[in-house]
Amino acid sequence: MKIILMGAPGCGKGTQSPFVTDRYGVCHLSTGDMLRDAVTKQTPNGIRAKSAMDSGALVSDELVFGIVKDSIEKPECRYGYVLDGFPRTQRQAEMMDQAGEKIDAAIMFDTPDEVILERTGGRWIHKGSGRTYHEKYAPPKVAGKDDVTGEPLYQRPDDRREVCVKRLELYKKETQPLAEYYKSQGVFTSINANRIVQEVRKSIASILDPIGVATGLH
Ligand code: AMP
Repeated sequence: MKIILMGAPGCGKGTQSPFVTDRYGVCHLSTGDMLRDAVTKQTPNGIRAKSAMDSGALVSDELVFGIVKDSIEKPECRYGYVLDGFPRTQRQAEMMDQAGEKIDAAIMFDTPDEVILERTGGRWIHKGSGRTYHEKYAPPKVAGKDDVTGEPLYQRPDDRREVCVKRLELYKKETQPLAEYYKSQGVFTSINANRIVQEVRKSIASILDPIGVATGLH
């Protein structure tokens, strides 16, 4: 099963992804996580991507596509993947098509702008696992510490409000139009992501369960 989760930064794609990987046996590919990892390790891609990421701009289509292409060939992706944060531009979507990657479902998380800015502004992350917390809606048991490991949490530099406003604008300009692209392929669904995690999860399952049965992959 080949699944795309689309939505503005902080819409809940990362929160829902573990549920999708567990339920359908697919791998999770977050281009944001992979790029942050490359930046931390100072790989050539990381060095190239850093300044665009810090300023809330998009990294080049070729660089991001290269990372995705390498990842989907890995054994853990043999039953498919859930792409979280990719494609973000029409060109990236076309590159996937040209590579013969046929998408089964593209789900757009619909969330009002003010909710997006509040969610990203209060977001805290555990670097090792990617677990995310929110200081108001999903606080850790001990402030600033990961529930499982007790390690310190960090705030992404690009979650600062002014950077988030820019990321949101870019999302509307570059990524939202992809709705039309995937509608024309008959694989698009939009869901209301401004609900509690369990409710959003139910909507995702109601879209993906029938496809999973059809493809025989769960
Ligand atoms: P995210 O964690 O998905 O919000 O991504 C963090 C940052 O990584 C973005 O603001 C971009 O700079 C970069 N990035 C992630 N995915 C992509 C993509 N598909 N295309 C271009 N840039 C990306």
